[in-house]
Amino acid sequence: MKTPLLSSLVLAAFLPAAGQVTDSASGYGALAARLLHTGLGRPGAYLMLEQLTSRAAHRLSGSAGADTAVEVAKAWMEERGFSNVHLEHIMVPRWERGRTERAFLEIPGKANIPVAVCALGGSIATPAGGISAGVVEVRSFEELERLGRAASGKIIFFNRPMDPSMLNTFEAYGGAVDQRSRGAIQAAKSGGVAVLVRSMTLAIDGVPHTGGMAYQDGVKKIPSAAISTRDAEELSALLRKGTNLRVRLMLSCRTLPDAPSANVVGEIAGTEKPGEVVVVGGHLDAWDKGSGAHDDGAGCVQAIEALDLLRKTGLKPKRTIRAVMFMNEENGLRGGRGYVADPLRRSEKHTAVIESDAGGFAPRGFFIDADSAIRAQVMGWKPFMETVNAGRLLAGRSGVDISPMVATGVPGFGLDPENHRYFDYHHSDKDTPERVNPRELEMGAIAEALLAYIIAQEGLQADTLTRSR
Ligand SMILES: [Zn+2]
Repeated sequence: MKTPLLSSLVLAAFLPAAGQVTDSASGYGALAARLLHTGLGRPGAYLMLEQLTSRAAHRLSGSAGADTAVEVAKAWMEERGFSNVHLEHIMVPRWERGRTERAFLEIPGKANIPVAVCALGGSIATPAGGISAGVVEVRSFEELERLGRAASGKIIFFNRPMDPSMLNTFEAYGGAVDQRSRGAIQAAKSGGVAVLVRSMTLAIDGVPHTGGMAYQDGVKKIPSAAISTRDAEELSALLRKGTNLRVRLMLSCRTLPDAPSANVVGEIAGTEKPGEVVVVGGHLDAWDKGSGAHDDGAGCVQAIEALDLLRKTGLKPKRTIRAVMFMNEENGLRGGRGYVADPLRRSEKHTAVIESDAGGFAPRGFFIDADSAIRAQVMGWKPFMETVNAGRLLAGRSGVDISPMVATGVPGFGLDPENHRYFDYHHSDKDTPERVNPRELEMGAIAEALLAYIIAQEGLQADTLTRSR
């Protein structure tokens, strides 16, 4: 029978969560109040964020900054008295930006006009003198295909903006990011010699935004760079006017052999079921632009702060609550996959995984990536979550690092902060701690602490008969 999702969730919210909240309801209410009082009284998450971004601003997988970030995170856990603090070793891809990344408009009879670009992660370099070619602008792969031979020998300029009319900026990103991730493959298939991609942001400014891109076996690799939205608009206007122009693109980035790295793990051991684990995590690696404050320094410090806040209350969870700093979310997901594959997992059962990787902005609630029975159970906790401004509990995707665990059937939870500004900063020089508000950041840690603790006490009961993800 098909039950309308909304009505069953609304119903569940008003049912006296029979048999679900075994600790007294006032216990979770009181815990929420203590977490708020302690957390907001000393924004601890932000102090860690400042440390991380000053000591390891650039921490792309395999870099010296990433190694420092691993040390810093491990030290935080040890200083705070977490138990079972350890590294779980993995091999990670290693790509370096290089010193040169420049581009110019070359218009006959005029001085070269600089264009703000940055290499996309994984791109090959150009020859030392750069690539100079005419430019064709397209807004989709279909449009590129229709150009046929007209694209041959050209720099392919992908200029489909993120759709500003969408409420959820992550959906707007999802609707445009194929140009960045697969643009080089499609462009090379059409005979293109290089790629310029409009930066994935709703802001119109002069700052290019990097991000991952892919090549495909059997398809020629061509250099690939992001162009700032302002320069994308100007280039587009010149092309529309029929200006005779070429772009010269110079990149010196390179891919090195895989390097050793690690996930960082620490926990509060469960008193009754220590082998059952609730993970709270974020990713420690970040692009080498700005200092990865929102993406995802925020998620890392929130996870550690969540455990620290719980530890300070003196409450002992029945199940283990574990902080995991995943490595290599941005260009490989080796940390997320490695965590699942680690032999240590064989003797553990994961009750839930929670990730914050949508920015350190004021939280609204959580996306729940689990079956309808679990969603209904969690809706029963909505009154407690509302007291920490995180009562918006919706079905949805949880987090990239935890997706390999969610794929094995572990219920996933993604912190859902306000997101209008996230892509203004994302993967660019603008992603710095000054753009993070200490109180908003702390509220995310408080919300994660409360959710993790309730799950650790109550467990999650999947309805195996109506499992319908
Ligand atoms: Zn991220």
